[in-house]
Amino acid sequence: MDDVPGGLSSGDLNFDLPEEIRMLKETVRRFVDKEMIPIERKTLNGHKLKPEIRAHFRKKAEELGLAGYDVPQEYGGLGLGLIAKVTVWAELSRSIALPSRGVDIFGPNVSPILYHLNDEQKKKYLLPTIAGELNWCLAQTEPDAGGDPGGMRTTAVRQGDHYVINGVKRFITGADDAHYTQLIAATDRSKGSHGGISAFVVDMKAKGVKLIRAQELVVDDRPWEIAFDDVRVPVEDRIGEEGDGFKHAQHWLNVGRVRHGARGIGVIERCLELGAAYAKQRVTFGKPLAERQAVQWMLTDSFMELHQLRLMVYDAAWKYDQGRDIRTEAYMAKIFGDTQSFLAADRCMEIHGGMGLATDLPIEKFWRDQRSMMITEGPIEILKMTLARHVLRTYG
Ligand SMILES: Cc1cc2nc3c(=O)[nH]c(=O)nc-3n(C[C@H](O)[C@H](O)[C@H](O)COP(=O)(O)OP(=O)(O)OC[C@H]3O[C@@H](n4cnc5c(N)ncnc54)[C@H](O)[C@@H]3O)c2cc1C
Repeated sequence: MDDVPGGLSSGDLNFDLPEEIRMLKETVRRFVDKEMIPIERKTLNGHKLKPEIRAHFRKKAEELGLAGYDVPQEYGGLGLGLIAKVTVWAELSRSIALPSRGVDIFGPNVSPILYHLNDEQKKKYLLPTIAGELNWCLAQTEPDAGGDPGGMRTTAVRQGDHYVINGVKRFITGADDAHYTQLIAATDRSKGSHGGISAFVVDMKAKGVKLIRAQELVVDDRPWEIAFDDVRVPVEDRIGEEGDGFKHAQHWLNVGRVRHGARGIGVIERCLELGAAYAKQRVTFGKPLAERQAVQWMLTDSFMELHQLRLMVYDAAWKYDQGRDIRTEAYMAKIFGDTQSFLAADRCMEIHGGMGLATDLPIEKFWRDQRSMMITEGPIEILKMTLARHVLRTYG
């Protein structure tokens, strides 16, 4: 190992992926290239994955030994860390075969919030979810509280051994297929977000839960508005302690934000593949597009941003796996991943000219999806506002 000036060993810093992660990456990449990309524009029925396609993908995932990669070993899964997960997410995101939100064919997609349930409730909700028998949704956003969940109006009022829940949630993905929702509601509004908000598991068939309408969108998601009208929830169905709801949701969102970054890696990479191939083949004014500096610079900018994003995402995942606080890294991964992957899709669309808008190519879908990612799970401006506090504390 070479020593660098100053006596530090250059071996202290290593950016190579560990061998097992490299193998995982290659395995998922082959799977995406062989099984997903060839059929990627035919896998959805409306906005949902066709059941027979889902079954086919899951069977293949099992054959590859990747089923349950997301689930801790104590619950029968592979218990892989975040480095492994971002690798899988990035590779899967090279294709538009799966709906952009909420379907994970290698795992049951268990919300980490559920690991905070007590043992009895774990049997009721967590284990059947891991077994793929129960679906869930997360209900946090409201008509008057989206990016600012501290302003939520849904209340959970304790009455003896129950809470009584009233309010309306909006934009809830997968609510129509969910057996239960993880609901975030105010238990003490005087305490604000930190201490005044709690998380609950609520059966979607409970009396007073009503699906109001699905919202049509430009992306392949039809999130629902749900009314909660005097819904009685037993105290045992509160997740963790009263007042910890925001903390749980934020912890989960941190991982979700890194996931956005990982998704960006896959999207940029595929847009580079498509853009470079088309630029070599398409001739205008007597030369291939690839020989035009304007086109080369679009590709090189995305290439550099891909490298930056990879460093950001793997740094965040590595720190998370070390048990460190990754709030700042998660914000950066989401902001940079969403914006640069949208830009990569936009550049790829431009390079393709009119064909970039064609619905038999994946580009226009990447473009729509990545634009939407800049808004959901925290709009860019709100994340930057929070990140600015950290910057001013650090450097002010
Ligand atoms: C497809 C889709 C799926 C979703 N799935 C779910 C789900 O499953 N569960 C769930 O709970 N929610 C879900 N959401 C909700 C989503 O997370 C929210 O839409 C998002 O957090 C933004 O909230 P909002 O729409 O109320 O925007 P607002 O909070 O009203 O913000 C509007 C805009 O104002 C700007 N802005 C706001 N505050 C500031 C500020 N302080 N400084 C500068 N600019 C600011 C931003 O540009 C922002 O985009 C989903 C939304 C969509 C579109």
